[in-house]
Amino acid sequence: MITLADRLRERIVREGPIGIDAFMAACNAHYYATRDPLGVAGDFTTAPEISQMFGELVGAALADVWLRAGAPADAIFVELGPGRGTLAQDALRVLRSGGFAGEVHLVETSPTLRAAQRERLAEAVWHGTVEDLPPLPLLCVANEFLDALPIKQFIGGKERRVGYLHGQFEAPTGEVQEVSPARDSAISTLANHLANHGGAALLIDYGHPETALGDTLQAVRSHAPVDPFGYPGEQDLTAHVDFEALAKAAAGAAVTPLVPQGIWLERLGITTRAMALAAGSPERTEEIAAARRRLCDGTEMGELFKVIALHSHAWPEPAGFRA
Ligand code: SAH
Repeated sequence: MITLADRLRERIVREGPIGIDAFMAACNAHYYATRDPLGVAGDFTTAPEISQMFGELVGAALADVWLRAGAPADAIFVELGPGRGTLAQDALRVLRSGGFAGEVHLVETSPTLRAAQRERLAEAVWHGTVEDLPPLPLLCVANEFLDALPIKQFIGGKERRVGYLHGQFEAPTGEVQEVSPARDSAISTLANHLANHGGAALLIDYGHPETALGDTLQAVRSHAPVDPFGYPGEQDLTAHVDFEALAKAAAGAAVTPLVPQGIWLERLGITTRAMALAAGSPERTEEIAAARRRLCDGTEMGELFKVIALHSHAWPEPAGFRA
C-alpha cells in the first residue's frame, strides 16, 4: 500500500523540499479524512468533548447577540471545522430554545467527520470553504479550526522547507517566523461576509496575543506531543494562532478584545450552569466540577485558549469580551 509518507517522499525527490504549508496541508487532509481523531481513544480532546457546558455557553452567547440584533429570521448557524458535531448540537439546543429557527451550515472538508456530523445534525448543509457560505447573516463559531490551517515558516527571511534525508523528513532549524496566508484568507473572507451580510463569529483557539518569533508547529498522537515530521498524516498537526495577525486580517468587521477562555466562560455564567447541572444530577457533581476546572483554570485550558469575536458593525458586540 502506498502511504502518504511515500507520496510526500516521491514529491520531494521530484520537486525538492516543500514548504511547511504544503506539508501541513497534505498531512492534515489525510489525517482528518481517515479518522475521527477526538476523545480518549483518539489523539486529542477538545473543549466541547469535555462538557456540554462549552457548547451551551457558545449557544447562549450567539442567542443573546442574535436577539439584541433584532432576531433576524434569515440568520444561519455556522460552524467551521465541527469535528463530531458536539459543539453545534449543544449550541443549537440553546439557540432553538431562544427562538432561533434558522438553517445549520457546516464548513468541513473531511468525509469521515461529515458522516459523524450528519448523525447529530441531520438538517445541516455542508460546504468546503468559508467562501461558499450563502449571503446571509451568520451566527458562527469555530473551535480549534484555525490552528489546523497551514502555516508558512521563514528562517532569516528564507522559507523553511521539509526535505527527506537519511530515511526521514526534516527541516532546518533556527529562529522561525510564521505566517498563515490560509488562515488570513479564511478570516478576511469571514470578516467581509459579516460586514456585508451581518452576524457575529466566535473564534476559540490557542495562540499568542501578539505577533512573535518562534516555531509553534506541533504534533500530537495519542494525547502526547510527537515530532511533527515523524508520521505524516497519522498525527494531528497544528500551529498557534497569531491573534494580532488575525485581527488585521479581520479588518473588514468589528473585532473584540481577546480574552482568555476561562474568563470568557465565567463571564457567560459557567459556574451557574455547572451548579444547575449538578442539581439535576447530584451523582455527577464531581465530574461536572472537574470539567469546569479543566475548561477554566489557568493551569488547564483557561489561559492557553483564547476567545475573540468578529461582528458586523451593524450588530452589537457579543457578551463576555469586556469586564
Ligand atoms: N471544532 C471541533 C473539532 C476540531 S478539529 C472540536 O472542537 O471538537 C479540526 C476540525 O477542522 C475538524 O473537523 C477538521 O476536519 C476540520 N478541518 C481541518 N482543516 C480544515 C479545512 N482546511 N477546511 C475545513 N475544515 C477543516
